[in-house]
Amino acid sequence: MIRVDDLSITYGDLRALDDVSLDIEDGEFVTIVGPSGCGKTTLLRTIGGLETPTTGSVRVDGDSPDAAQSDARLGFVFQDHTLLPWKTALENVTFLRRMAGKDPDPEGARDLLATTGLDGFGDARPAELSGGMKQRVAIARAIHLGADVLLMDEPFGELDEITRDEMSVEILRLWRENRKTVVFVTHSVPEAVFLGDRCLVVSGSSAAGGAGRIVAEFDIDLPRPRDESVFGSEAFGQQVARVRSALHDDA
Ligand code: ADP
Ligand code: MG
Repeated sequence: MIRVDDLSITYGDLRALDDVSLDIEDGEFVTIVGPSGCGKTTLLRTIGGLETPTTGSVRVDGDSPDAAQSDARLGFVFQDHTLLPWKTALENVTFLRRMAGKDPDPEGARDLLATTGLDGFGDARPAELSGGMKQRVAIARAIHLGADVLLMDEPFGELDEITRDEMSVEILRLWRENRKTVVFVTHSVPEAVFLGDRCLVVSGSSAAGGAGRIVAEFDIDLPRPRDESVFGSEAFGQQVARVRSALHDDA
C-alpha cells in the first residue's frame, strides 16, 4: 500500500504541491489527471523516491520510497521511454532486472515481448522501433523488473491517438495478468477514466497560490475488462464529463 500524508513540495519560492494526501491499495489502478504544471510529475517522482518531501511523508508498504526503490519494488515508465540505444529490445527488457541483482529470467522476458506485441523484435535496437513499440519495451522492462508498483508518467504522451487507444487496452490486459499497483499520470481525461479504478483530479488553482492539490476524486465504476468498445459507451461519456467539470470548476 502507498500512503501519501500531507505532502508539500516547494522549489525555492514555488510551491509545486500543497498538502496532498492519498492512499493507494495493492493492485489498484489509480490515475492522476490535471493540467500541465500542476505538479503531477512531482507527485509521482516523490512517490518513487526521486524527490524529497518538503513537508509530509510518503510510505510504500510502510517503508521509505528509497528503500522500496533499492529493493526494485518500484518500476517507472516515463513519457520519454529512456531505452538504451545500443542495446536490443530484449537486452533493454532484461537490463534493469539484472542491475537489481534479481534472478535472470530470459524466458519471462521473451514472453513479455510477445505479449506486448513485439514478437520477432527482440533483436531490434530502439532506433529500428516505432514510438509505440519503444513504449511497449519500456513497459515490458518495468514489468520484467518484478516491481510491485508501476509509476507511469504520461507514457503514451508522444503517441498518436490510435496507438494511444491500443496501448491503453494493452496496459489494462498486462495489469490484469500481472496484478501490479499502478499509478498513472496523464493530462488526458478520457485516458484517466478509461484506465482507472479511481481517478484523482489535481489542479493548481490560484486560490492555493498555484500549488497542485487534489481537488476531486472519482471511483470509476465502468465494468472490467475494458476494451475499445468502452470509448463509445454512454457511461464512459458521463464519467468523462464529470471529471472534466471538476477540472474546469477549479480552473
Ligand atoms: P506536471 O507534471 O503536472 O506538468 P510538474 O510536477 O512537472 O507538473 O511541475 C510542477 C511545478 O513545479 C511547475 O511549476 C514546475 O516548473 C515546477 N518544478 C518541477 N520540478 C522542479 C525542479 N526540479 N525545480 C524547480 N521547479 C520545479
Ligand atoms: Mg509532468
